Amino acid sequence: MSLRKSIFAAALALFTATGLSAAPADTAPTAAAYRLHLYHLHTGESIDVVYRVGDHYIPEAVAQLDHFLRDHRTGDVRDYDVREFDLLHDLMARLGHPDGVIDIVCGYRTPWSNNYLREHGHGVALHSQHMEAKAIDIRIPGVSTAQVRDTALAMQRGGVGYYSQSDFVHVDVGRVRRW
Ligand SMILES: [Zn+2]
Repeated sequence: MSLRKSIFAAALALFTATGLSAAPADTAPTAAAYRLHLYHLHTGESIDVVYRVGDHYIPEAVAQLDHFLRDHRTGDVRDYDVREFDLLHDLMARLGHPDGVIDIVCGYRTPWSNNYLREHGHGVALHSQHMEAKAIDIRIPGVSTAQVRDTALAMQRGGVGYYSQSDFVHVDVGRVRRW
């Protein structure tokens, strides 16, 4: 083998070993990764997952989020409407904190928990979107609750409730409405 050929063979071997591709990078655009980093104020648990890549929702990650957002009083888990996860993700991007932490005040609620809160005067709706696994109450460290509310309202993706006394915002993917 000539020197020239052996250098070419060595280069080709290196090229293959490192997994490099000769294809131009712009022919295979990287699909957007949707990540959520959440901290639950009642359970003390944290989760940091990529739950969607491009248009594909990752079942294991979605299941982890569903478990994380379980009714913290009863332990019951329900499958969330994934549009709620997209809403949180897009909200953080709009606020300029795409990888920031969201504090979770309340996720899924069983009818039992919803009744419990109603009986204890927490101003909870009879047919709460929390019972449909379409609503989450949040607080975002470093962002005012009023700014979270205004940004969520501008998105027009569902209901937005503002609780200034308790310092949190309710966001759901039900009908567009506000209170
Ligand atoms: Zn709520």
